Amino acid sequence: MSYFSDVSNICWFLEAEFAREVVRLHKVVGNAVTEGRHIVVGTGSSQLFLAALYALSPNDAPEPISVVCASPYYSSYPSMTDHLKSGLYKWGGDAESFDKEGPYIELVTSPNNPDGHVRRSKVNRSQGFLVHDLAYYWPQYTPISAPADHDLTLFTVSKSPGHAGMRIGWALVKNEEVAKKMTKFIELNTIGVSKDSQLRAAKVLRAVSDSWEQGNSNEGESFFKFSHKLMAKRWKQLRLVVERGGLFSLPKFSPAFCTFFNQVLEPQPAFVWLKCEGNVEDCESFLRGHNILTRSGIHFGVSPKYVRISMLDTDENFNHFLDRLSGIQS
Ligand code: PMP
Repeated sequence: MSYFSDVSNICWFLEAEFAREVVRLHKVVGNAVTEGRHIVVGTGSSQLFLAALYALSPNDAPEPISVVCASPYYSSYPSMTDHLKSGLYKWGGDAESFDKEGPYIELVTSPNNPDGHVRRSKVNRSQGFLVHDLAYYWPQYTPISAPADHDLTLFTVSKSPGHAGMRIGWALVKNEEVAKKMTKFIELNTIGVSKDSQLRAAKVLRAVSDSWEQGNSNEGESFFKFSHKLMAKRWKQLRLVVERGGLFSLPKFSPAFCTFFNQVLEPQPAFVWLKCEGNVEDCESFLRGHNILTRSGIHFGVSPKYVRISMLDTDENFNHFLDRLSGIQS
């Protein structure tokens, strides 16, 4: 098996079958424009995130370019950005308070990890490069409002069908030079991306698209209908438990029209962004005392009164979580 997939493509290790299924799924869901974009495949969107920082950083700048994101932000952004102490880029913190002159890279995560809100860029200055991380812009998590049409967008099979262990993500990139530099980064980093994983990911994406097209004709249940229903059920159960007492609160979401399901729907994020109300200052420790393991708000650039909890665990674990949370409230 060769390292190469298609030497005529900028991303020469991209499997044609995987690329075809990416384009098809975006067309089926209507969540991203693929025309006029280069597809770059990565070992998860994590590798593509680093490839994007490398590709967007000016290589002759006197100091590293700032990488910013509005808080609460995905906790891996600061650590991934600064881990190797690059001379090209540096974590610049909360986009809301960023006031440095000159070029910068802003990460826009929508819907956002950890709080599930739909986001737009915050800094809005002329010398900004935007990276849109749309890992959760799928109909089981959020209403699809329009096809995303940005310069550089990241997606991943970790969150669309939920195959995180496959380690496959993809970037939709407008600018040819940026796509070339991202490809170079992956060449130097891992000499391409596992063909086995790309072919397996292609099969999974194909099954998801097929299930929607067949589900529509046979009244069967498509993957997105199934996963949307499951998320709706879990969020309903969680809200009932939280609203029973005054100890915790949840973010409020506005319903919006979803062009995929053709109806007005509420967001139902992959994470709960839970706030401890009252005088509990360290929500993570408080919940650990009740055998609920969470991730503190401090990792996301905000107060320890907040914690993030996954909504995507097994039924058994989710039910344990609800029982334990309910036990605290009674
Ligand atoms: N971006 C966001 C917002 C995420 O939540 C995650 C996974 N938690 C990633 C990127 C990384 O995903 P991958 O598994 O594709 O590397």
